[in-house]
Amino acid sequence: MMWFLGALVASVVLLTGSLQAADLPAYETLREQIMEAERVASLGGNIWLSSDEEKANSILMNAKRAEIAEGLKTPEKYAPAMHFFQGRQYVRQSEVFRMIQKMPKGAFLHGHNTGMVTSRWIIQNLTTTNNLYTCRNVDGLLVFTYDQSGCHSEVQNVCTERINAEDRGKYERQLEKHINMHGPRPEALLPNRKKIWERFENIFTTVDRLYKYRPTYCAYHKRMLEELCEDNIIYAEIRASLSPLYDDNNRTLSTLEVANELERIVEEFKAKHHDFIGVKVIYAKRNRASEEEMLRRITTFKQLHHAKPNFVIGFDLIGQEDTGDPLNRYINQLSDLPSTANYFFHAGETNWNGRTDWNMMDAILLNTKRIGHAFALPKHPQLWSTIKKRNIAIEVNPISNQVLGFVWDLRNHPASFLIAENFPIVISADDPGVWGAKGLSYDFYYAFMALAPAEADLRFLKQLALNSIKYAVLTSDERRKINRVFQRKWQEFIANVLNPKF
Ligand SMILES: [Zn+2]
Repeated sequence: MMWFLGALVASVVLLTGSLQAADLPAYETLREQIMEAERVASLGGNIWLSSDEEKANSILMNAKRAEIAEGLKTPEKYAPAMHFFQGRQYVRQSEVFRMIQKMPKGAFLHGHNTGMVTSRWIIQNLTTTNNLYTCRNVDGLLVFTYDQSGCHSEVQNVCTERINAEDRGKYERQLEKHINMHGPRPEALLPNRKKIWERFENIFTTVDRLYKYRPTYCAYHKRMLEELCEDNIIYAEIRASLSPLYDDNNRTLSTLEVANELERIVEEFKAKHHDFIGVKVIYAKRNRASEEEMLRRITTFKQLHHAKPNFVIGFDLIGQEDTGDPLNRYINQLSDLPSTANYFFHAGETNWNGRTDWNMMDAILLNTKRIGHAFALPKHPQLWSTIKKRNIAIEVNPISNQVLGFVWDLRNHPASFLIAENFPIVISADDPGVWGAKGLSYDFYYAFMALAPAEADLRFLKQLALNSIKYAVLTSDERRKINRVFQRKWQEFIANVLNPKF
């Protein structure tokens, strides 16, 4: 209540300007009240910390303040103000980042399965089978393939090339460049948004057939789960297309069989990792299609959801939003969703104002459970109150927005406004494997150091983790379990930070 009165007094004074600057003690008090009111109203402002958490918070904040102070002296090494491709080397040296890596982060709610695993691991582990080749497709793009169909150049056996290479490491790094956007000069790409998106989408074409082979698909997803655990994530909802797979007997697995396969992999993993709560699927298809095609997709989704209501939980449309079809083209096809299913639309992933960004309005009118990105949300005050009232979580993906060219300096990310206004947001990573990140830690680091105020502290990070659980789609049993596991892991984390050997 006190903070509220303070804020009220402060805002009245700001409006009327009735305080004389000469009245210094009162002036200072008011400044503090205004700052305190902002702090309390922002994301994490209502979190209460135990005495151990307060101690851990001091350690965290000492590291954060030291990093900011150092950044003022050597801005050329201050990662939060740099592009991720140039800043990553400094993030890795950061004490704050080290703490965030160790912190339990709850749930990963916005990720595309085929973009989530680190590219180095993929090259070193999934390209070693004898039957794998590379060739150029009709657009001259390098693709992995197990046969020669669709090749418009000579095929090269990857194993033979690797053996014949003078320097195996160099050969693998070259290969990795085809599936990772990371490069030393991101600014060269930035003036041309079309090029960025082409390069991004080409990566998924390059690996498309690699993952359609059942054994590779399984190995890939097992690794995805391991990488989530390594980053202290205990649950995920992933966007996946569940496209048909084929196996060694040349048998084709249907979409439903692929869903079964994925669920089996998750269950096997859970049996060995008791603290891992699980993975659910948001069936995601391209945002360009005829009305008939869209109807087929939504029908397939309904069948999948009917067969596996607690595994295939929702539907989404993906792809570059500015060049895709607007959501309102499909209102007829999308208006009839089973009551147990949800939409999780990508919407407002744009720099436009008054065009593509209206997708956010349509997503809300279609009763979306969460919105992917909503990068343009601050421009639409009519949507704010509905989002808050209906608790529609915004899935913010800072590094993705930067790499895909929506914002250069993440301190200018529009989610700073959402944080100040305590919107229901979660931080996620979209396709971390495609740009050299891993799990959620890098995005949490940028959210903490660039998007949030300088003095945002452990309360902010804890609130982000709690939000990720709050806005996940869980049964009451799963929710009880995830809360229990998270509380325990959080206490272990705090004890760890307080341990002198940390
Ligand atoms: Zn996405």
